[in-house]
Amino acid sequence: MHRLARFNALALGLSLALSAHAADKATTIPAKAVTAAEQLRDRAVNDQTAYEVVESLTTEVGPRVAGSANDQRARDWAVAKFKSLGFDKVYTETVTYPLWERRSEHGAIVAPFPQPLAVTALGYSAGTPSGGLTAEVVAFNDLDGLKNADPSTIKGKIVYVSTHMTQQKDGHDYGMGSATRTRGPVIAAEKGAAAFLLRSAGTDAHSRTPHTGVTGFRDAKQAIPAAALSLPDADQLERIVAMGKPVTLKLDLDVGFNGTYTGANVIGEITGAKHPEQVVAIGGHLDSWDLGTGAIDDGAGVAIAMGAAKLIKDMPQRPDRTIRVIAFANEEMGLWGGRAYAEQHAKDVGKHQLGTESDFGAGKIWRMTASVKPEARGAIDQIAKVIAPLGVAYDATKPGGGGSDLSQMHGKGMAALSLTQDGTDYFDYHHNANDTLDKINRGDLAQNVAVYAVFSYMAAMANGDFGSAPGAFSNDGAHD
Ligand SMILES: [Zn+2]
Repeated sequence: MHRLARFNALALGLSLALSAHAADKATTIPAKAVTAAEQLRDRAVNDQTAYEVVESLTTEVGPRVAGSANDQRARDWAVAKFKSLGFDKVYTETVTYPLWERRSEHGAIVAPFPQPLAVTALGYSAGTPSGGLTAEVVAFNDLDGLKNADPSTIKGKIVYVSTHMTQQKDGHDYGMGSATRTRGPVIAAEKGAAAFLLRSAGTDAHSRTPHTGVTGFRDAKQAIPAAALSLPDADQLERIVAMGKPVTLKLDLDVGFNGTYTGANVIGEITGAKHPEQVVAIGGHLDSWDLGTGAIDDGAGVAIAMGAAKLIKDMPQRPDRTIRVIAFANEEMGLWGGRAYAEQHAKDVGKHQLGTESDFGAGKIWRMTASVKPEARGAIDQIAKVIAPLGVAYDATKPGGGGSDLSQMHGKGMAALSLTQDGTDYFDYHHNANDTLDKINRGDLAQNVAVYAVFSYMAAMANGDFGSAPGAFSNDGAHD
């Protein structure tokens, strides 16, 4: 008995000493800040600011493809919106990229059964000669079929590649769909194709709405005409091709590269009271494709971040660290705004406490993952407890990637979360004419705002950091 008690006392002493040592290094969030975060969460789920923001953007600016007249109007809108919401600091940082323009687009089956097709050009597509391009179709079931094809079967023809996505909560089929859209045109061009056509990377089987999106072309010399068919039009073409007779199509695309353009990331900050130079980075991308009004992609992301920061600004005191909201330029044609931000801020990566961007629509967040140093896992657990009542599960086994544009800053070493939204219907509307405000549910959007407000505030109030440093997390598998 005596010996056992003595052993227990020793063991207890040892474990106290160990936990005291770990506590020295561990990042924690003070109890007072946890309570304030719970109150913030409960206010956020009833707050309409984010919905008003995305309603304003999609109504008063509408579509805002990078480099268009509406791109400038969107930046003016963002500066004015940050100011009217009471942000402490509002500024822009320039981003330069190739300008690509869509002016008009038509497609049709010429033979054997002449009829129009619902078609849209892909980003960085070349234009067809004026009067259009008419050629025979060579069809493939998937990208591998094109990769394995003999160039002599392709030369001078319109390559068509099918791709089939199904609805999923995490939207993982888009990996295949976007690979077909970005790499397919490049492979077709290398093999001498006259043009490239794709079954849209989308899930709206019942809608004649082709989905645009960027290709892998990076300059006019490399590009050939490239376009997407709506899913019913792709079905139609595939039925006709299956009859085994030659099929001839006409594409008339007045699109193409037109020099370079300088736009900007628009940034608003709620200045930290104790460590203003240290920032929690959140945001969305301000540009959109031109077919819809960019509500779910990505007006929602901009609105979620603005709405969350506004709620933090309305608290009685400023948080310890700065909340930085970034409305990124030209995400759609290749993360131009995110890459420019990462280059401009690489030397400050250690001052980025934690970050993530919202760019997967406006569905409810259901999962949180994190790339942080081991000593900050306890603080992530604390955040997870506050957002659990919102239906968000923390998966500690997966890394956090930081979202689309901020993945670039994560690549430089910024500690990052991934806050995964329910994307079940996202690819019904993504990059097509149906990406409009009516697809956003107010309650779901407010749930997103609550999650962003809670994590941003708690990270800003933490005692300690989350491990951001140059080159940190380069092997976490969240980016490649
Ligand atoms: Zn997007």
